[in-house]
Amino acid sequence: MGLLFGGINMIRTIKGVVISETPWKENSKILNILTEEGIVGVVSKGCKNLKSDLRIVSQKLQYGEFIINEGNTKLANLREGSIINPLSKIKSDLTLISYFTYITELLNQIMKQNLYSEIYKLYIKTILKIEDGFDPLVMMNILEIKLLDFLGVGINLNGCCKCGSTKNIVTVDPDAGGYICRDCYTNEIIYDEMIRKMLRMYYLVDIDSVSDIKIKDYVKAGINQFLSIYYDRYTGLYIYSKKFLENINDFK
Ligand SMILES: [Zn+2]
Repeated sequence: MGLLFGGINMIRTIKGVVISETPWKENSKILNILTEEGIVGVVSKGCKNLKSDLRIVSQKLQYGEFIINEGNTKLANLREGSIINPLSKIKSDLTLISYFTYITELLNQIMKQNLYSEIYKLYIKTILKIEDGFDPLVMMNILEIKLLDFLGVGINLNGCCKCGSTKNIVTVDPDAGGYICRDCYTNEIIYDEMIRKMLRMYYLVDIDSVSDIKIKDYVKAGINQFLSIYYDRYTGLYIYSKKFLENINDFK
């Protein structure tokens, strides 16, 4: 740390994913890097120059480590960067880019309200699993269900949400916010025992330990439908890019 032009000039290292890049001046860019402290705006000077050491790392969808110089201005300057994971598989697949975009927008909105490094860690783990070739729909839904706790609207999976009974559960209702037993059932959508069991698994699983995904299509689709309705009903979030995702063929 030193004094520069009468202000504080600090160099530090951040880790994160470049989620957008904007051209700036002749051959520079402004990068938005999603980090555990939220979005950090960074000027990457001269990075469009073919000989620039910053060229590769200053591209959208790079997950890297960035040494930045923070002065008095709002934007920091990028000094050096190195790639942790280039996310090449996601970059080369439009469907995966759509998932990435939605997940990132979701995270960004949630992190505007709660800056928890745990949220960021869940995000990175999810992105890396998708990069490793795991089913993006399943990984997205696992992340979504885990994020509900941070939003203060976790699903009650401890018994019927109307009478508390733990017996004769017949479905889980995204509008009521939990299980429904036979006695309380009216005409809610039926999410069968397999779907309810997997929903619980999604909630409990450690993302790092996900190693093999064999889930029936109707179960995946049921969980995704449940979570879509639940998010609409309880989170108050509107994620623009979800619309694009809903148009993807394999998104049921
Ligand atoms: Zn009941």
